[in-house]
Amino acid sequence: MTSKNSWVNPRVFFLQDTLFYLQFRPIMVTFGVMNKISERELYEVLLRVWGYTSFRRTQLETIVSICEGNDTLALMPTGAGKSLIYQVPTLATDKGFCLVITPLISLMKDQVDKLRRKGISAVAIHSGMTPRQIDIALDNCVYGDTRFLYVSPERIATEVFRARFERMRPTLIAVDEAHCISQWGYDFRPSYLRIAELRKQCPNIPILALTASATDAVADDIMQKLEFRKGHIIRSSFSRPNISFSVRKVENKNAQMLRVIQNVQGSGIVYARTREATQQLAELLREHGISASYYHGGLEPTERAIRQDEWVSGKCRIMVATNAFGMGIDKADVRFVIHYSICDSLEHYYQEAGRAGRDEKKAYAVLLVGPDDHAKAKRMFSFEFPSLEIIKKVYEAIANYLQVAIGDGAGISYDFNVYEFCKKNKMFVGTVLNAIDILRMNNYLTLTDESEHPSRIMFTISRDELYKLRVERTDLDHFIRTILRMYDGVFTEFRAVSESAIATASGYTIDKVRNLFRTLWQLRVIRYIPSRCTPLMIYADCGRLPQENLYISPESYTLRKEMAAERYRRMFEYADNTEVCRSRMIQNYFGETDAEDCGVCDICLARKKRERNKPELEEQILRLATDEGTIRQAVEQLEYDPDVIARTIDKLQDEGKISVGEMGQLRINK
Ligand code: ADP
Ligand code: MG
Repeated sequence: MTSKNSWVNPRVFFLQDTLFYLQFRPIMVTFGVMNKISERELYEVLLRVWGYTSFRRTQLETIVSICEGNDTLALMPTGAGKSLIYQVPTLATDKGFCLVITPLISLMKDQVDKLRRKGISAVAIHSGMTPRQIDIALDNCVYGDTRFLYVSPERIATEVFRARFERMRPTLIAVDEAHCISQWGYDFRPSYLRIAELRKQCPNIPILALTASATDAVADDIMQKLEFRKGHIIRSSFSRPNISFSVRKVENKNAQMLRVIQNVQGSGIVYARTREATQQLAELLREHGISASYYHGGLEPTERAIRQDEWVSGKCRIMVATNAFGMGIDKADVRFVIHYSICDSLEHYYQEAGRAGRDEKKAYAVLLVGPDDHAKAKRMFSFEFPSLEIIKKVYEAIANYLQVAIGDGAGISYDFNVYEFCKKNKMFVGTVLNAIDILRMNNYLTLTDESEHPSRIMFTISRDELYKLRVERTDLDHFIRTILRMYDGVFTEFRAVSESAIATASGYTIDKVRNLFRTLWQLRVIRYIPSRCTPLMIYADCGRLPQENLYISPESYTLRKEMAAERYRRMFEYADNTEVCRSRMIQNYFGETDAEDCGVCDICLARKKRERNKPELEEQILRLATDEGTIRQAVEQLEYDPDVIARTIDKLQDEGKISVGEMGQLRINK
């Protein structure tokens, strides 16, 4: 096998890795300074904890590399399985303890939940927690048996964290989304630069950097900024041979979308740009008798969870969504992903389209392009790119909105709903998000992804009074009993509760549970704070500055604009391309120079068809030449692309079979 492809046929893979396994490469690898792990032990953990029998190709290579003590940068597509690379070796050692740095709160929680469900002790620390919650979690890492500590980059810079970290004994540091450390990446976060300082406290343990997107410049930057002792990159291929990528240039996107959905069986995702569009398109699909739902960040968390579950379980066939949908969702049998509008970069396009066909069976990724999309995107781009003046205005408006006085706010996080903010200030969401990004790059503010605050309740009456109520209101009795059985302490303090867990335990629907909570609240029996899901705005250590002290570095501003423009250009290059295999183009974009044609994208299929038709076309041209026809007639009469006709005529001329007169007359050479 020469392919470095991580998505090859699983059977081949299984065999290959089993052989590997049976041979037990005799080397013993040292992990950090504490333990020795054999490859056999790695496989045992993989099977015992996850039930998987084989590693995906570069997973094992990367794990062995860090076990050997090397600082390693792993470049792998989203969904390829980066988490296992730090999880498996950590669990293969008795006292393995891994610090994981990742900027996405939702994914952090997702990973911690997954580990806990397997009985593994893992904690997350993020900006949405209270100081007390953070204290407890950190203590567990020092004194308890916690195996994984997930932290946001903002957290590691704090005194509290540093003091505790000194007493921890990590065996590995994993840096997820490592491109955030580079100013050349699209998502630069200054707090990532502080990671190197942590290393000084444990200089002998390896560091693992993980990312799905890095150009050569970014890769070098990552290794330099993380102070790799020696550069080492392991790259896996971005090829997805089972996905047929295609672009459809159409006047009528709706008709084309319907055609794809009606021709391909199974479930799929339609990505649209705006929240309104998701709703409209889902309605359109339903009008055509297709089971569809929509999803965007503006929906209530429980509503989102319900819709997502229905789609994952197959109850609902199509999800029409904004790009808020998809992160952390494991659905292997997605048969197609349609993009109703173009993305701002190939990275994002690949990430979203790549949610198709995780089961390695045939799947489709279709990008719809309308006649004026180019112009529209251009307009949007200049509109979304704020001037320096606007950036400063946004900064002021945010501080006023959050009521942060000058000099205040240092290190504090605030709930921040960008949509409400924009509505109130009559600002355009795209512009504001870009301004916030630039403010983040200059280390003034960071907007996190959503942080979920669970619902909370507390009883405001005594047990005796509650008992009386239960006798009087038999309709509430079952509900109250369920709560009391599930949660203790609700008489003395606010307790976080889960409506969905209560729904399962009581047999009621989630809606009914919420209504019952409201009823109890109206009866003044409980205090009820429904769950919220909001992003947080975190001020950097300097707090709110007076406007005249706000310095925006030209690089962060001009460079960002140029890079964004370049990414757009590459995205449109992909959309406009009629020559190069789509997969190859994507792989080239991710730095693979030796990619081969996929044979299944629209470009490859069209080429195959042309080749199949070639003899026929040649025959037709020869026939026309016998009748002394012209090039013009050939183009008008023959049902082929004019370019193809021209090329075939050239070829016949080169072969000496025909000649072309000055007026374009075709003649057979005798
Ligand atoms: P990434 O971080 O690269 O986007 P994840 O670590 O979230 O990917 O993994 C994506 C999915 O792939 C998870 O469901 C994970 O359990 C699964 N996975 C990872 N490695 C393997 C493997 N060797 N065999 C089967 N499934 C795997
Ligand atoms: Mg990941």
